[in-house]
Amino acid sequence: MIAIDGPSGAGKTTVAKLVADRLGFNYLDTGALYRAIALSLREKGINAENSEEELRRALQNIEIRYINGKVFLNKRDVSDMIRTKEIDHYSSVFSARKIVRDFLLNTQRNAALFDNLVVEGRDTTTVVFPEADKKIFLDASIDERARRRFLQFKEKGIDISLEDARDSIIERDKRDASRDVAPLIVAPDALLIDSSNLSVEDVIKIILDYVKN
Ligand code: C5P
Repeated sequence: MIAIDGPSGAGKTTVAKLVADRLGFNYLDTGALYRAIALSLREKGINAENSEEELRRALQNIEIRYINGKVFLNKRDVSDMIRTKEIDHYSSVFSARKIVRDFLLNTQRNAALFDNLVVEGRDTTTVVFPEADKKIFLDASIDERARRRFLQFKEKGIDISLEDARDSIIERDKRDASRDVAPLIVAPDALLIDSSNLSVEDVIKIILDYVKN
């Protein structure tokens, strides 16, 4: 198993998918699971102020599945619906709640029934799969991450300024790194890659070399 963590916009998804393809491994985007939960909770009118008990009740009938790169919320394919500015925000807000993290722990660990897995997120190297064979922390400068995020939104036709993309990344990173449960940290045994000045191919090469050794 190869686990890759890092902040928003560091290129984890692009790189993890390609590494999985090249190695013939399965791929799991754990962020997509948190996004699907956020979508469901928002559809139920839940927000950051709701109590732990209200969250617990709202989570009761939620079933999230990740199949071949698509995420299903109670059998509904929500893969595209979860890529919005609102879900960017709420996935980070709700993912700070212990009850939400506990809820997704088994979903994530079940995916590891395939040993040949590339998984990416914020706590896959530290909490979900601390025993992963290879761990990577993928980072990049804030300016570079904001630029990538801005371009991703533009490609999807979502209207956002570079400043807004930057602010939203800073806000999410801060929340993800400062929360009490499973904060974003660098695992002591992870390979740290700064992709600010590297191409996707450069990063893939570094990871494949690391995996082979
Ligand atoms: O990776 P992505 O940006 O899609 O993740 C959305 C949000 O889900 C992150 O900002 C983070 O708050 C949360 N997340 C998490 N733990 C993970 C993956 C994502 O808390 N393993």
